[in-house]
Amino acid sequence: MNVNQSAPPVPPFGQPQPVYTGYHQSSYGGQPGSTAPPTPYGAYNGPVPGYQQTPLPGVSRAPPSSEAPPVSTAQAPCGQAAYGQFGQGDVQNGPSSTVQMQRFPGSQPFGSVPLAPVVSQPTVLQPYGPPPTSAQVTAQLAGMQIGGAVAPALPPVRLGYGPPTSLAPASGSYPNSGLYGSYPQGQAPPLSQAQGHLGAQPPQRSAPPQASGFTSPASGGPPMPSVTGPLLPGQGFGGPSVSQPNHVSSPPPQALPPGTQMTGPPGPPPPMHSSQQPGYQLQQNGSFGPARGPQPNYGSPYPGAPTFGSQPGPPQPLPPKRLDPDAIPSPIQVIEDDRNNRGSEPFVTGVRGQVPPLVTTNFLVKDQGNASPRYIRCTSYNIPCTSDMAKQAQVPLAAVIKPLARLPPEEASPYVVDHGESGPLRCNRCKAYMCPFMQFVEGGRRFQCCFCSCINDVPPQYFQHLDHTGKRVDAYDRPELSLGSYEFLATVDYCKNNKFPSPPAFIFMIDVSYNAIRSGLVRLLCEELKSLLDFLPREGGAEESAIRVGFVTYNKVLHFYNVKSSLAQPQMMVVSDVADMFVPLLDGFLVNVSESRAVITSLLDQIPEMFADTRETETVFAPVIQAGMEALKAAECAGKLFLFHTSLPIAEAPGKLKNRDDRKLINTDKEKTLFQPQTGAYQTLAKECVAQGCSVDLFLFPNQYVDVATLSVVPQLTGGSVYKYACFQVENDQERFLSDLRRDVQKVVGFDAVMRVRTSTGIRAVDFFGAFYMSNTTDVELAGLDGDKTVTVEFKHDDRLNEESGALLQCALLYTSCAGQRRLRIHNLALNCCTQLADLYRNCETDTLINYMAKFAYRGVLNSPVKTVRDTLITQCAQILACYRKNCASPSSAGQLILPECMKLLPVYLNCVLKSDVLQPGAEVTTDDRAYVRQLVTSMDVAETNVFFYPRLLPLTKSPIESATEPPAVRASEERLSNGDIYLLENGLNLFLWVGASVQQGVVQSLFSVSSFSQITSGLSVLPVLDNPLSKKVRGLIDSLRAQRSRYMKLIVVKQEDKLEMLFKHFLVEDKSLSGGASYVDFLCHMHKEIRQLLS
Ligand SMILES: [Zn+2]
Repeated sequence: MNVNQSAPPVPPFGQPQPVYTGYHQSSYGGQPGSTAPPTPYGAYNGPVPGYQQTPLPGVSRAPPSSEAPPVSTAQAPCGQAAYGQFGQGDVQNGPSSTVQMQRFPGSQPFGSVPLAPVVSQPTVLQPYGPPPTSAQVTAQLAGMQIGGAVAPALPPVRLGYGPPTSLAPASGSYPNSGLYGSYPQGQAPPLSQAQGHLGAQPPQRSAPPQASGFTSPASGGPPMPSVTGPLLPGQGFGGPSVSQPNHVSSPPPQALPPGTQMTGPPGPPPPMHSSQQPGYQLQQNGSFGPARGPQPNYGSPYPGAPTFGSQPGPPQPLPPKRLDPDAIPSPIQVIEDDRNNRGSEPFVTGVRGQVPPLVTTNFLVKDQGNASPRYIRCTSYNIPCTSDMAKQAQVPLAAVIKPLARLPPEEASPYVVDHGESGPLRCNRCKAYMCPFMQFVEGGRRFQCCFCSCINDVPPQYFQHLDHTGKRVDAYDRPELSLGSYEFLATVDYCKNNKFPSPPAFIFMIDVSYNAIRSGLVRLLCEELKSLLDFLPREGGAEESAIRVGFVTYNKVLHFYNVKSSLAQPQMMVVSDVADMFVPLLDGFLVNVSESRAVITSLLDQIPEMFADTRETETVFAPVIQAGMEALKAAECAGKLFLFHTSLPIAEAPGKLKNRDDRKLINTDKEKTLFQPQTGAYQTLAKECVAQGCSVDLFLFPNQYVDVATLSVVPQLTGGSVYKYACFQVENDQERFLSDLRRDVQKVVGFDAVMRVRTSTGIRAVDFFGAFYMSNTTDVELAGLDGDKTVTVEFKHDDRLNEESGALLQCALLYTSCAGQRRLRIHNLALNCCTQLADLYRNCETDTLINYMAKFAYRGVLNSPVKTVRDTLITQCAQILACYRKNCASPSSAGQLILPECMKLLPVYLNCVLKSDVLQPGAEVTTDDRAYVRQLVTSMDVAETNVFFYPRLLPLTKSPIESATEPPAVRASEERLSNGDIYLLENGLNLFLWVGASVQQGVVQSLFSVSSFSQITSGLSVLPVLDNPLSKKVRGLIDSLRAQRSRYMKLIVVKQEDKLEMLFKHFLVEDKSLSGGASYVDFLCHMHKEIRQLLS
């Protein structure tokens, strides 16, 4: 439970408002944006140190690039490869010869702790009769034991696994991978036996979910009780799959342990021959059941591959089989189980170190002293006490923080606390803000800082008596003493130049070159802005937005517009000296929308006409950002630039770029240059923007290479967003663009922000990932920050932690609200600390781990060859799992793959990261697409990375039409598709509707209003609006999926066997990919081998 002495037990949060009434009420109603006047909390006499009192120095811009003018911009025509159209990669023609799986690195030294020898158990440990014969063993393995908790004894592995045989699969690229788990048919018991046996196991499926172990995806049951021991998390694949018609190699009943766990008292001694016989011993683990047809192999041999999957002795009459996909951990099952187990109760944050429900579970949060998981998620909620332990486990200690996360309507926004002129109360030494973990002492006259232990005086006006437990009697009346998240109104000390900020401004900067005009973009945009300007972000109950707006158009030169309300018509001012950008007008450039509405409307009507006949194809880019930033500087305010840009900026100007796209660099040491900006000018410019609080959102409409890697530098460093619409055509793309634009313009943004993460003694924040700028090692500077953006922070030990006091994080975000109010948002989180590694592994969150690992890898490609980055990930994952195996799992055969319950999806998810477009691109994935995705992932939250790397695949006609809930997802693999069904697939960026070739005619009619499958238009992006239940349901589901995501997903209808299906299949991430990415089954086998190497 809560170890924080000062943390309140359970504040009466059924009704937060009542509790806080009398205390800045307007803010307590859950109106985050309230600008209510300060409530009279006595002034704290001591000077409150400013958070960031020194203005950020401006940085002068680098001289114009002197690079040679681009020779030509001719490139691959705008194709389907464009992101946003086909999202994570295009699958076609991935030359597997060039992108084949590389040799994986060998095992690495495993921390400083010597590895324990693999347990060797030559004899039977289980109460299950005599050791099976070799026939039984193989059969049993085929029947998929990954170390059942009650697994029957296995004979020495070598009985089952001989040297390579001649069973090489037809594919030939990898002689054995197709053979995983293949066994002579003769050894298999009749299917009915196996099934019957399994069917008799229900009682064993009643263990609590955390009992661990791969639960059998097929049975869906929780793991068996027998594996519930605290030290056995993660043991054992659960029950064997029960639904496999062609389960030819099930174990004989007597050999089949009840429930067929994957762990458990291990079978036979670990293979003593593991070194001599590098082949996969994995067969032992499991699931080698039913043949499901040939499985693609790893593209290239691993070291020691020769015996991979090899079979011993007897001639093998059957075609190769492989690990049964139903028997390996299923993301769908884990998601489902968590929904069932944790979706009904609110998540109450009063308890330290509690692992929240998964991001895929809908749940409500009650703040009782720790920040909601919507704001902070951690890779582990129980941190090793020492750095040695942490190094041994290799589990990254990281938090994914989304400081301005939007909350569901049922949850109150953080209360705003106003301490008047004295400002928020802080520790004098470490500057941490008052929070529930601070401990009041000496009758309430002082408080001890929970972060640095410093004893501070309580200012008189903040004094309050303590109750008999040592807690302040007003603790529940003060958010900062009882809640995990809250805000403070900042004093002038927290403002730039010691001046309260002006309201921010939005500047719309529109490319009016030939391409922008021709595609219809300019007309569409201007039309939309006329109405969109009425929906600028507002705070609280404000009637109108405080945000001012300005307009610029540009091609090779810039046009500024005076839209002062007193003018009858807008006035244009042209600046052609783009090398030395200045803003030609101050008065009338940034205006209030309602005051200048007529002039603005007139301007937006005229822009498309003015440039209708333009022949100008060249554009500038850096000078546009420079101009917007200078305009904000002149107006002394923060703000956001919305840039709508079409082409590589080749016009003579600072920041001019050349076409340096070169796919030949892929898989070379120079590949990293494709991700790096081609000039340093944009970093310099970004620095200036950050100093001004100028955030840049970039909407790109490229018809060819535009060098996203360089153009996205400023958005990336200023907390902005990049959107990309390749080959934009109004008719095809307007819905997506307008939807994104509306959302982007309306979303609440914090400006000119600085984020600081403080920690209690023993750990500290050492690394940061996200869209921001850092000029020192601690302050994350965000010119802008919206509710979608996350910052991932990694922690390292600098001292020993204490189990009793745990570890504390405090994230403080100083920002200017949309109304121009300076505020501090505080999030606190207390974590447990452990001296046993098992506690670490029991409290991990794989989704968060993957978020961290993806960001780590995606940053790594800037500096290292992609292959090195992939290898590093694999090695780290193997180390994490091997450490668990060695220290936490019960002794068992090395042939068993044992995964911690909380991390049983780590291999499948990691494989998705490894084969993502950034790390393993297919032939059709463009350089810009990769840079774009790399940039997007950097700011993603855990829910977004989760679905991005492992897409959701929803069958549409399996569940009753009247069912209001989303249909249960199926695993992202081709073999899960039934050709009589229709599926939706989404990953947060892309949305496909896949139609099976044998789908019923009635369904086709109901959805597409055509009479047969062949008449459905492939590539369709809009479903006809038809008045029947199925059509309504599917369209409703599409709307609801879109509403859940931060970007509009364009629909693509894909017919089975159609050309477009290749695109769709790229998202079936459990399968081998055309770019050489391993299938889940193959990768799991490979991971097992890596682990074994580490352990041997
Ligand atoms: Zn302190």
